[in-house]
Amino acid sequence: MLNLMFFIICLIIAGMGISLLLKMQRLKELEKRADALNASVEEMDEQAKLIIRTDIELNKTQEELDKKITGLSTLQKLSREISTTLEENQIFKKIGNAYLEELGFEKSSAFLWDSLTREFRLYLSIGYSENESLKIKNAVNTDKDYYLDLMHGGKTASSVFIPEGFLPKEKICRLFQVSEFIICPIIPQEGNQGFIFVGTQNIETRITEGEREIITILANQIGQTLDNARLFEKTWRSQQELEIKVEERTRQLTEALEELKRISKRKSDFISSVSHELRTPLTSIKGYAAILLAGKLGTVPDEIKERLGKINRHSDELVHMVNDLLDISRIESGKVNMNIESLELTPIVEKVADLLSEQLKTKNIAFNLRIPADCKKIMVDRSQIERVFINLLGNALKFTPEKGSISVNVHCSDKTIQVDVTDTGFGIPQEAQEKIFEEFYRVDNTINQEVKGTGLGLTLVKHIIEAHRGRIWVKSKLGEGSTFSFTLNCA
Ligand code: ADP
Repeated sequence: MLNLMFFIICLIIAGMGISLLLKMQRLKELEKRADALNASVEEMDEQAKLIIRTDIELNKTQEELDKKITGLSTLQKLSREISTTLEENQIFKKIGNAYLEELGFEKSSAFLWDSLTREFRLYLSIGYSENESLKIKNAVNTDKDYYLDLMHGGKTASSVFIPEGFLPKEKICRLFQVSEFIICPIIPQEGNQGFIFVGTQNIETRITEGEREIITILANQIGQTLDNARLFEKTWRSQQELEIKVEERTRQLTEALEELKRISKRKSDFISSVSHELRTPLTSIKGYAAILLAGKLGTVPDEIKERLGKINRHSDELVHMVNDLLDISRIESGKVNMNIESLELTPIVEKVADLLSEQLKTKNIAFNLRIPADCKKIMVDRSQIERVFINLLGNALKFTPEKGSISVNVHCSDKTIQVDVTDTGFGIPQEAQEKIFEEFYRVDNTINQEVKGTGLGLTLVKHIIEAHRGRIWVKSKLGEGSTFSFTLNCA
């Protein structure tokens, strides 16, 4: 019985032992699971932390991006305003408080170096009283060498980066009453350089790379606009000077023209009265020569007759010259009464050719006249136009050697005709072609030493053509011939 009881107790103990062992094993397993759970909780905690950190970073980047976009759009508006300005002072006035605040700054100054006074001049002061601005200006000029170095080195200083050798951050912060700032050089291509300062008292602000870039772009924009303004100023000034010069020159020219008109009138009056005075004695000389030649005062020996003949011929030439002179001065002074009528050109030219036919024959020179049949009538003074042809054809005859040819070609249009008088003569040297229309001008050559003339014929022709509101010009080649062309108005 005792044994049975012992056996039962042992059995119970063994059962309990087994159950304990099983429980312990279960516990171990649970512990293992708890450890694994703990590890994954820690892992999750780490991941959560990472997510939060990334989120903060992202927010920061987003903020910076927003700031940059705002800054860029403000800069764009500001640039547009500045770039249309052409006055140095006005450029800085365009940078108002509103723009600055949009960029995140409430204080700003801008200085340009004045190379004459060797001082920085204050062009912009935002966020400072007059006294404070003056204090800043004086302090900047006391430390001008530092600012000049910064400018010449093209470096930007900011509260996060001070270039070597520049003033300490604290000093700048104290002077400009800010906690954060950017100082950026303004470097135009020409003229005085300077710098722009922007700053804020907000201690939470930290100057970012983006802000530094934006202020650099602004400073560059100011530099370019300064260049434009200076270029405009230069152009405007030289235009003003030019206008003054043109005015002065016009006044001088008007005076000279008036003087020329006075002289020309005096000359015409003089020629006209001298020619008149010459005509009377010339007529007497011719008359007496004729009386003597006719033997009315007794028989005249042959040698004297020959000389009297010369006196007669020379007197004729003189009369001719005096008449030409009188005509020129009359036309010049507008004293000629032109009898303008509607006429056919052909009979006028044919009449003149007829007058010259003997000489044409003698020199064996061919004459051609080509006038289109449908040519309109012309509005001219008959006797004046006859003189034009007498002179031009007379010259062509004089200056064309034997067996040559002379032709008159007419080109017609609705309103005008152009007459070309062409010869195969000696031609006129290039340098003389403009001068031959001047009074008394004769080409200095051997032909002219043999051929007689006064140098008045072409002057008279030019005056007559111009009195008819036409033009005259010459084209010629030495040794080949000349073409005198003129225009006349149609009826
Ligand atoms: P003149 O014939 O009396 O000398 P003009 O005024 O008619 O004066 O002509 C001026 C000069 O122009 C002449 O001396 C001559 O040298 C030159 N000239 C004019 N017509 C001709 C021509 N057809 N061919 C060559 N030279 C000419």
